[in-house]
Amino acid sequence: MKLPQKHTAKGTTIFTVMSALANEYNAINLSQGFPDFPVDPMLGDLLAEAVQKGFNQYSPMAGLPMLREAIANDFKKRYNVSVNADTEVTVTPGATYAIYTAFTSILQAGDEVIVLEPAYDSYKPNIETNGAKVVPVSLVAPTYHVDWQKVKDAITDKTKAIIINTPHNPTGAVWNQQDWDTLADILRDTDIVLLSDEVYEQIVFDDEQHISVLQHEELRQRSFAIFSFGKVYHNTGWKMGFCIAPPELSSAFRSIHQFLCFSVNTPAQYALAQYLSQPVLPDIRGMFQKKRDFFLDLLKDTPFTVHNPSKGSYFQTVGYEKISDMPDSEFTQWLTKEYGVATIPISAFYNNHQDDKIIRFCFAKKEETLEQAVAKLSALTATV
Ligand code: PMP
Ligand code: GLN
Repeated sequence: MKLPQKHTAKGTTIFTVMSALANEYNAINLSQGFPDFPVDPMLGDLLAEAVQKGFNQYSPMAGLPMLREAIANDFKKRYNVSVNADTEVTVTPGATYAIYTAFTSILQAGDEVIVLEPAYDSYKPNIETNGAKVVPVSLVAPTYHVDWQKVKDAITDKTKAIIINTPHNPTGAVWNQQDWDTLADILRDTDIVLLSDEVYEQIVFDDEQHISVLQHEELRQRSFAIFSFGKVYHNTGWKMGFCIAPPELSSAFRSIHQFLCFSVNTPAQYALAQYLSQPVLPDIRGMFQKKRDFFLDLLKDTPFTVHNPSKGSYFQTVGYEKISDMPDSEFTQWLTKEYGVATIPISAFYNNHQDDKIIRFCFAKKEETLEQAVAKLSALTATV
């Protein structure tokens, strides 16, 4: 059977590969981005309550009204932005799905999409599956800020969209107001659509503030803003997320969504709606700040180089130039097999698999997991 090749990403996603290798070698898994600590028991109880109360059938296509309302209220409370629950919020089975659906609702064969790299590995195949072309623009190491001239130069009459991600996976960079304003200047006289991937919106450190595209009145009019409950409430396996976009874009999004998945897990929607409506929710930011600080402190006992402490997300990138000159994917395999700690090579986040010899740790883990991992890593010696 001859099957079409829908995209150019080869083989299996790095997250599956490294988690499988971690299992095979019984290694501590600091590769794929998921927490190893439990969800708030209240959220589990609410899920059980949903089933008992009979929230077991299809929900409305755009999402349970109570969840869309709760999301709108939460964004009013935390960002002071008004979101219309009926016309602007669509609940999705995770953010990856929302990104694919947003692309599918706007892209046609031959379109171009600007992707700032390194980038989460689903963007490229999502774009290509829609017959469009990825135009990569590299962020500038070691701070991974945007070179705006390069973005301007990448725009052609075929550019249909740009996708950005802040707080950033894998580098931990966070956009400031000037980044948003510069992007607005560049896009002003174009029809380019913005996909703003903000799945780590609640995970920022020190003095950083996450600025959402929803707070930028001008950019917001042309944007799909994408969020993940999994990343924020430690339940990545629930695969729950949502997209906020102005009515015209939301309607294009829903025209695809209704035939792709139609509606999303109802008990999980009920549980999240009730949870978000609690007067006080756990301090997510404070909890992750402690983990980042704890992990950075532990890393001092290893020969890894921290070029940049993470400003947001639950990832920390490090250089291994004092340990080895292996290519990064070989190094991460070796580290998993020989030292029992799994990580992610950053080359997996580049279109051309550029290898800067940087790897990524996920620190969304219990303190004891981080301690055990670093105990293994401290056996590494600086040899180069
Ligand atoms: N965007 C980025 C930048 C991510 O790191 C992730 C994490 N998996 C996602 C989107 C997808 O989130 P979800 O698990 O909700 O699909
Ligand atoms: N986004 C997560 C990460 O970067 C993983 C998601 C996935 O496995 N697709 O690790």
